[in-house]
Amino acid sequence: MSENDKLECLRRLQDVLSRKFELENQVETIPQNLRHEEHILEHETAKLNELEEKFRTVNEEVKSLSIKYDDAFNTRTGYEKQMEFLNTQREYEAMSKQLDEAKVQESSLLRLRNSKIQETETVGKELEAQKVIVEEQTAKVSEEKGRIDSILDDVKRQIAETDAECEEIKSGNISEDLFEKFSNIVKKKKGVGIVPVYGQVCMGCDRVLPMQFVIDLRLKMQQNEIEYCPYCSRIIYYEQLDPEMEKNYIFEQLESSKSEGKGSAESAKSDSDSYDESMGMEDGFEDF
Ligand SMILES: [Zn+2]
Repeated sequence: MSENDKLECLRRLQDVLSRKFELENQVETIPQNLRHEEHILEHETAKLNELEEKFRTVNEEVKSLSIKYDDAFNTRTGYEKQMEFLNTQREYEAMSKQLDEAKVQESSLLRLRNSKIQETETVGKELEAQKVIVEEQTAKVSEEKGRIDSILDDVKRQIAETDAECEEIKSGNISEDLFEKFSNIVKKKKGVGIVPVYGQVCMGCDRVLPMQFVIDLRLKMQQNEIEYCPYCSRIIYYEQLDPEMEKNYIFEQLESSKSEGKGSAESAKSDSDSYDESMGMEDGFEDF
């Protein structure tokens, strides 16, 4: 196949890969709402568990206070019965004092028990309300799950389609190694992995390449070899412009227009693309 066909394959791959990465991004973002709802469910379930524990504790306290109250009741009624059989004033006074203390104890336990009973009613109502909240949230989560499952299935099917398209485009033309590398470049360079060089300027990063590098690039293209921009690591190919246009992309021309203060293509260079000292050497670029 000719070099142009190979470059054309890469351009087509770039389109398909961009679509694929967008779909993969959707796979990440689509479940975000579900994760939010699941987080709420977790929180509400923890609250429900706390209330259940509290309800158990309060009920146990009611039981224990009821037993204590019954004891106090029996003590007080026991003293009252004994009062009927007392003979001396002294015994009567002593028993009266015990009876008074027993009455105080009994009514204090009664108050405590009643307020605990009230608390179980309050906690019981909170518990029932919380059960409803958790049920509703569980339904919401499973509904959201069902909703996104079908969407995700569809997106994943589309991703599989892009994979199949890539296979078809690269079969026989693009090696697995080049495809992997190119894939990473397209992903990292936001969909633009292959760019032309006009004159001496890379159209990916607007940097000026050395004249010798461009001459070598043109030779490599004739030999079916792939070259990368030493500044932005994109795959580059030389594209002939008509001589009048090309003049605007030649270093000397750029320098003179710069000294005239008119600016140049170079001034638009991207900050993220840094110059590599080993430019022009095999591994002189960001390795994908
Ligand atoms: Zn570049």
